Amino acid sequence: MDNTLLTISNVYRSFAAGDQELTVLNDINLSINRGEMVAIVGSSGSGKSTLMNILGCLDKPSQGSYFINGQDTSLMDADQLAQLRREHFGFIFQRYHLLGDLNAIENAEIPAIYAGKDKKERQQRAESLLTRLGLANRLDHKPGELSGGQQQRVSVARALMNGGDVILADEPTGALDSQSGEEMMQLLQELHDDGHTIILVTHDMEVANFADRIIEIKDGVIIKDAQNKQAKAVTPLTNVATSANKNNTLSRYLEAFKMALLAMSSHRLRTFLTMLGIIIGIASVVSVVALGEGSQQAVLKNISAMGTNTIDVRPGSGYGDRRSGLVRTLTSLDSDALKNLSYVDSVTPSISSNGTIRYDNQGVTASFNGVGADYFRVKGYEIAEGQFWDEEGVTSLSQDAVIDDNTRKELFSDKSAIGEVIFLGELPVRIIGVTKPKTSAFGNSDALNVWIPYSTVASRMINQNYLDSITVRINESASSSAAEQGIVTLLKMRHGTQDFFTINTDSIRESIEKTTATMTLLISAIAVISLIVGGIGVMNIMLVSVTERTREIGVRMAVGARQSDILRQFLIEAILVCICGGTIGIALSYLIGFIFATTGGNFQMIYSTSSIVTAFACSTLIGVLFGFLPARNAAQLDPVDALARE
Ligand code: ADP
Ligand code: MG
Repeated sequence: MDNTLLTISNVYRSFAAGDQELTVLNDINLSINRGEMVAIVGSSGSGKSTLMNILGCLDKPSQGSYFINGQDTSLMDADQLAQLRREHFGFIFQRYHLLGDLNAIENAEIPAIYAGKDKKERQQRAESLLTRLGLANRLDHKPGELSGGQQQRVSVARALMNGGDVILADEPTGALDSQSGEEMMQLLQELHDDGHTIILVTHDMEVANFADRIIEIKDGVIIKDAQNKQAKAVTPLTNVATSANKNNTLSRYLEAFKMALLAMSSHRLRTFLTMLGIIIGIASVVSVVALGEGSQQAVLKNISAMGTNTIDVRPGSGYGDRRSGLVRTLTSLDSDALKNLSYVDSVTPSISSNGTIRYDNQGVTASFNGVGADYFRVKGYEIAEGQFWDEEGVTSLSQDAVIDDNTRKELFSDKSAIGEVIFLGELPVRIIGVTKPKTSAFGNSDALNVWIPYSTVASRMINQNYLDSITVRINESASSSAAEQGIVTLLKMRHGTQDFFTINTDSIRESIEKTTATMTLLISAIAVISLIVGGIGVMNIMLVSVTERTREIGVRMAVGARQSDILRQFLIEAILVCICGGTIGIALSYLIGFIFATTGGNFQMIYSTSSIVTAFACSTLIGVLFGFLPARNAAQLDPVDALARE
């Protein structure tokens, strides 16, 4: 029976060193039988580790072929090589290469996780292996809490986890004191006696002497290959990989999820820093958009509070006209004429004055608005109690007043105001109605208003026979600019000259809407910028953290992780970080909104689902992209390259 396990023929391995090629292995031919214990010796730099890495499928020859059990390794893909490492090889490194965040059991378990073994089964096996190796009371210690010899024994347990019929030990005693070194060698011999094939690399002849066969290598060439002592008769293990390997996808995801959680919790600062980018990005995007949305809604509400579409007619040539006070041509006859236009809904003249309202012994300053009976229709006021006065009230110069809700509260607090008599300056008036509160377009909702017929103001208060302004409400269906034109034409005809000007609420509305559109654009720009800033933060930390963990990736691959296992773990981790960060960011943004509301911003922040979803999606995408890409690159490295990274 052919007992040959590993066959290397005409193998070269060279590395690019600057412009030159450094040939480290030079035409190596070698075959190793099942159950042998072989030592590869040579001085430092002779190429021992390079050869060992090729034997363990961590690295590939530049040239030549390597057969394992008659199968050509050059025909195997990364996953098949990973399977070999997982099921047949067990590595013992000079520097142990344990994962610092995991305790002894968890470290030993890793190969079984990738082999898909049951949790219970693999924990029991890890425990029994570690116990056999004398670590029964160190099971939950992390590598940092173990001595070198103990760490090396954990790595032996890891090597044996899935069977490890071929043990590859690269300077296993190199970092150990002589006592521990001795124990390690005895352990390897015991494993050999159990039937494991042992390949041992060392620069130390004394250590090499434990082996049955010694291969000496110098400058990449085998210079001696001889039997050292009579090989003990051992029954070699064949294919001990006890793999009833389940390919349970769900449990693999679960394991990857657990590993991601573990990695996150054992590197809290790093995780937090990664999240910070996302938190800031999301919180700022969501807040800025909510702020913009809120102010926009406030503006829109103000616009709709302007209510009806009205056109104001005032004397003079414009707001700044100082001579407007001298123009006295605007009269109630103009108002009556306007009322007859087909597109006019209603018209009100207006004469205003200010003064003190007195009631009992209170006095408050208010605007006295002399208006027509149609005023409330023109402005869209509604009555809360009592009634408005009518045309009759205007012609009879009645002393009936309507007050607004502010004034009622100010003077009467909770009492009903109807029927009460108040003094507008010297003039006593009787309150017959109170209007419902109405948020005004420009925020002067605190103002106190009293409305009485304009005729009353004109003749009983200030003795003025011309109007301060006329307000015209346009039919819903009419075009407001055409109506404005018509009003101007009519009044010009009546006055013979244009000694008045018009203010159209529709054009105000238009300009406000334009401003809001500009604001939306500005806010979107700010949102995009904060998203980019957040994204760059995430990207940086992700890149650093994945680079920092290349060695961990190397270790995982050396013990048999597939590329997809590595990817899955990092992807899940990136997504978890992003989701946590995103959630905290959104919470933070709501907190900002709460603070904003309680510190009396004059509008509410309005959170839109779409902005939250977009921000979330963008930052997750960034996180995944910049967590995933470097991890994928690392996963595609040869394990030996990943291991060599610091
Ligand atoms: P040793 O016998 O001490 O284990 P190695 O096999 O580690 O020696 O290295 C042999 C030679 O190959 C050394 O000169 C080393 O510098 C070189 N070498 C090993 N790995 C690489 C690499 N990845 N890139 C370039 N040179 C390498
Ligand atoms: Mg070496």
